[in-house]
Amino acid sequence: MAGRLEGKIATVTGGASGIGRATSLAFAREGAQVVIADVDADGGGETVEMITRAGGGATFVQCDVTQAADVEAMVAHAVSTYGRLDCAFNNAGVEGANAQLADCPEDDWDRTLTINLKGVWLCLKYAVQQMLKQGGGGAIVNTSSISGLSGAAGAGAYGVSKAGVAHLTKIAAQQYAGQRIRVNAVCPGGIHTPMTTRVGSDPQLLEVMEKMHPLGRMGEADEVAEAVLWLCSDATSFVTGHLLAVDGGFLA
Ligand code: NAD
Repeated sequence: MAGRLEGKIATVTGGASGIGRATSLAFAREGAQVVIADVDADGGGETVEMITRAGGGATFVQCDVTQAADVEAMVAHAVSTYGRLDCAFNNAGVEGANAQLADCPEDDWDRTLTINLKGVWLCLKYAVQQMLKQGGGGAIVNTSSISGLSGAAGAGAYGVSKAGVAHLTKIAAQQYAGQRIRVNAVCPGGIHTPMTTRVGSDPQLLEVMEKMHPLGRMGEADEVAEAVLWLCSDATSFVTGHLLAVDGGFLA
């Protein structure tokens, strides 16, 4: 049976770790050629190795999503290596400081907004330009968060950046629907990744986080990857501008 992304070319930012790595593996398993982009070259190389060992196709490109030249080069790499771009998973992000708004250091505010929001915008910008050059069509998925859809007190700059990603997704979906470029977002709840290990290093806090999800646990990166795969596949050919919570019922 053909894979759900057979013959497609995809970029994944933040592909060196967590949700990005799991999605890169899922894309490759379903027949896509994957360009893994990250600031972390070691982790990115490991993801490529995991894909290659499983019989899939992938390459790594070092890319800081806050730098327009890097993002442009990532898309150019996809085109020069594989000929085109069909799917972009704009996922790289950081957790930011755990600070109330009045205590948030200005440099942390700037860094969080620049990586999480400007980074997604730059990735969308160059992906759309390439998709338009190819005559239109394509699927873009951005990573927002439950923190982007609700005003949780603990979220701060991170929540603001993820709300920006949600809104960016809706605007882009409207702007490029006429050219058949679908733009959606996933909004994960708490997911076991290196990011949550950093945030929830206190086991008691982690236990509270697990219980806050009605399904009684946090999610796994593979469970988010399946949602991204679905949004990039032709199964969702009539879905655009959607913010898909993958959150064990958290927002419900
Ligand atoms: P992670 O820390 O495991 O992975 C994030 C990846 O992004 C890392 O490989 C890191 O090197 C990369 N990255 C960071 N800054 C970058 C930059 N400037 N340019 C390129 N790459 C950069 O975290 P994760 O949990 O897999 O997070 C992935 C995305 O999911 C993030 O956007 C995060 O905000 C979002 N998210 C995570 C959770 C969760 O509970 N883990 C929940 C909601 C949303």
